[in-house]
Amino acid sequence: MPLVGLFTGLSIKTGQAQPSAQVEVLSETNPQAISLGYKMNTASIDRLRWTQFVPGQSCGNCALYQATRGSTQGPCKIFGGQVVMAAGWCRLYKAA
Ligand code: SF4
Repeated sequence: MPLVGLFTGLSIKTGQAQPSAQVEVLSETNPQAISLGYKMNTASIDRLRWTQFVPGQSCGNCALYQATRGSTQGPCKIFGGQVVMAAGWCRLYKAA
């Protein structure tokens, strides 16, 4: 009986590691997103608070964006495990 439990546990672990798992879109209400001023669209940026924002900057042309150019969303090195919108922005923006 204990062996069955052990093998069942291994099976579950293997199942969780499948690469087909859905990736969540980062929410603007995520605490880290709030602290970094992340917005899904640059039109929503609080320009009085985030004065470093320069029009034309967006996740899609940020050095930390990890998707191909022209994609609408993709992974970001800052927000691991979630995807950001190419039209978005946060205060850690780095020119590519
Ligand atoms: Fe977007 Fe770059 Fe901020 Fe990531 S680091 S959320 S890609 S602006």
